[in-house]
Amino acid sequence: MSGFLPDHPQADVRVSPNFGPRRDGMKPDMIVLHYTGMETGHGAEAWLCDPASEVSSHYLVHEDGRVVQMVREGDRAWHAGKSSWRGWTDINSCSVGIEIVNPGHALGYNAFPRCQMAVVADLCRGIIERHDVAPERVLGHSDVALGRKIDPGERFPWRFLFHQGVGHWVAPSPRRGGSALRPGDAGETVEELQSMLALYGYGVEITGRYDTQTEVTVQAFQRHFRTSSVDGSADASTISTLRRLIASAPGGLDD
Ligand SMILES: [Zn+2]
Repeated sequence: MSGFLPDHPQADVRVSPNFGPRRDGMKPDMIVLHYTGMETGHGAEAWLCDPASEVSSHYLVHEDGRVVQMVREGDRAWHAGKSSWRGWTDINSCSVGIEIVNPGHALGYNAFPRCQMAVVADLCRGIIERHDVAPERVLGHSDVALGRKIDPGERFPWRFLFHQGVGHWVAPSPRRGGSALRPGDAGETVEELQSMLALYGYGVEITGRYDTQTEVTVQAFQRHFRTSSVDGSADASTISTLRRLIASAPGGLDD
């Protein structure tokens, strides 16, 4: 394929060979946001278009706001890997993936420039409109790939995006100290925490024990929704933020 017309009118096109059809002709109804985690945007763009990498995303947004589309929105890009949300595991078949240039935790993790984020917001609004994506289905890679991925990370401006009409977010409940559920705890309160995380969409198993998978899920939740401390223990602020998030889910959380 020599090229295609971009779905996002402002995007440049650079075709990646790393894509296939969506399962059962599915249409995307989710957006997954990533950071590139590489030294340069140029290097990330080349990697996502290299057949040897076997990875891709629909879009790449450079630090200066330039958008490159590599896979058509109708096709299945290879960005999410092993992942799950609301019990569904083929996230690549139901999502549009956006890679946002940032060196990431291992290489310095810069703040995301405002001009880059304004472009990400605009790009997301277009995708949301074209595919009728519910606010609570605009997620981070870390939300769907528990224990495996931490991008786009706790410095990602979810609040800014929310105020730009993208995603679901509530102001985090203030931290006041006090008791917290922690690794090793067990019982009904742990089960309730797991049930709320699972209801929101996280791929946590309800065991009634604050096991490693619970800690990892709480960390993922905090990295997105309560970023002041990403410590994996469920303090009152974390639990209250989660409750308010569930209560305010615009699309509702019933199947
Ligand atoms: Zn990622």
